[in-house]
Amino acid sequence: MSSSKKNSGEPDASMREKIIAGYGNKGVNALKALDEKRILKYLDFFVVIGNSGEYIVVDDFCTCRDFAYRQMECWHILAVRTAKITGGYITVNEWYQDKLIKDQSAD
Ligand SMILES: [Zn+2]
Repeated sequence: MSSSKKNSGEPDASMREKIIAGYGNKGVNALKALDEKRILKYLDFFVVIGNSGEYIVVDDFCTCRDFAYRQMECWHILAVRTAKITGGYITVNEWYQDKLIKDQSAD
């Protein structure tokens, strides 16, 4: 058996256990987003597609309401951090800022 690990983009079983043991529900949500390929890496930001919108994650900052109210690490941040380790994100060759501007100029 080879000892070299391939970067499959999937967290392995022991990593999943640790995440769920350490973060509870947040961990479950983060792993679900990872499994469902809802973490996008744009040229400028990581974006997580949540249950009720898309959120920009930059290091320990997130644009979701949970983070704004509680100033606590939300599951989006956890999901992006995990995706960075496993490589389990979708690369989008666009600037997210351009997408935001386009959306806003609709009127
Ligand atoms: Zn968040």
